[in-house]
Amino acid sequence: MDLALPGGEHPARVALRSWLAEHPDPTPRQLAEAGYVAPHWPRPWGLDADPVAQLVIDDELRRAGVRRPFNQIGIGWAGPTLVHAGTDAQKQRYLLPLLAGEEIWCQLFSEPGAGSDLAGLRTQAVRDGDEWVVSGQKVWTSYAHIAALGILLARTDPDVPKHRGISYFVCPMDAPGVTVRPIVDMTGDHAFNEVFLDEVRLPAENLVGEVNGGWSLAKVTLGNERVSLSGEGALWGQGPTAAELVDLARRAGGVADAVLRQQLVRVWAEGEVLRLIRLRTVSAALSGRAPGPEASVRKALADDHGQHVMELATGLAGMHGLLAEGGPADGLAHRAATGPRDAGAGPHGGWPSSAWAKGYLFSRALTIGGGTSEVQRNIIAERVLGLPHDVDVEADRSWAQARGAPVA
Ligand SMILES: Cc1cc2nc3c(=O)[nH]c(=O)nc-3n(C[C@H](O)[C@H](O)[C@H](O)COP(=O)(O)OP(=O)(O)OC[C@H]3O[C@@H](n4cnc5c(N)ncnc54)[C@H](O)[C@@H]3O)c2cc1C
Repeated sequence: MDLALPGGEHPARVALRSWLAEHPDPTPRQLAEAGYVAPHWPRPWGLDADPVAQLVIDDELRRAGVRRPFNQIGIGWAGPTLVHAGTDAQKQRYLLPLLAGEEIWCQLFSEPGAGSDLAGLRTQAVRDGDEWVVSGQKVWTSYAHIAALGILLARTDPDVPKHRGISYFVCPMDAPGVTVRPIVDMTGDHAFNEVFLDEVRLPAENLVGEVNGGWSLAKVTLGNERVSLSGEGALWGQGPTAAELVDLARRAGGVADAVLRQQLVRVWAEGEVLRLIRLRTVSAALSGRAPGPEASVRKALADDHGQHVMELATGLAGMHGLLAEGGPADGLAHRAATGPRDAGAGPHGGWPSSAWAKGYLFSRALTIGGGTSEVQRNIIAERVLGLPHDVDVEADRSWAQARGAPVA
């Protein structure tokens, strides 16, 4: 598997270098207008970049120390769906401010009774003249408190099988009737929210795609994944890695405890397996092959792995792991000072202790967000192993039958 990127002669590298010579300190708007925020998107929003060109551009921006604007849900999910199904007017209105990070987006999908079973959502949108009137409740809405706009799923026909009665809208977060209430998670951060929609009036042009065609667009939103070489961190690609934890333990003089040693080897081995799966995925994209089951397998393994790494880091921290600012380096230093080995503590693996402590708390979210581990394993069981569907099909049938609708 040869994953060496093309060098200075690659046209994308040449073009970007000369652009950077003219824009040595580009603004987010300049990056967006030049197509460098999402180069895999079609022109004029992106550069129609193939997987090799995407990776070359990522590499070149990294070398130049240029960071793309932050708008995770906008750039990652809302934008690709608008590119796929938005009208020309919607693309003109929304895409450039989205790419430049000038308008932050959020995703109004999950509800108190509809997470894994997203198609069971109850928020309703009723047509009234040139407007849709939306009422319902959303939950776990990341960045709703800083978002200008949200992608919203609402039920527009309650009398058909549940997947067929959902529409996809753009919802301004400052519209009358939208109330955002913070949820502070156990890391102490305020990232997600409850959102209440009380007779929110959306103009008809805020519908994306066809009326009742929202489920297929939701799948576009949820399935969007671009080629990426970065992100080996244990927390959804961010944060410390298993290898860094091993490094930390080695530099601190090692770990004598037999159980902790076993666990260190286990998380390191998991990290290596995941690294090789990632390389396979990138290699398949580079050679133009469609992604295989690796993506689902990788998510199912990576989410558990993130928890294993953070649990072990806390175990290595010992009593220091009880502190918000205590990490494995502190615990290893203590062990080295009081245990049988006479080794000094090493550095913190490049991470402050608090990153490990917070990572431990955040790691509980890994197996829930973006599709729970159980749901991922269902997908693998059905689509990769060819096992029968899970009970959800039965739930769909009874939902439809209860309403006298034809069974899907
Ligand atoms: C950090 C984070 C950020 C998030 N951001 C957003 C956001 O911005 N916008 C948004 O809309 N949502 C967001 N979510 C919500 C997320 O999509 C849901 O939490 C997720 O889909 C699970 O839904 P739920 O919480 O309702 O759990 P449920 O679906 O109620 O699941 C409860 C339990 O039942 C299990 N279960 C459910 N169905 C099955 C089945 N068929 N087979 C086996 N087991 C099953 C689940 O695995 C889980 O253990 C976020 C979540 C997290 C953790």
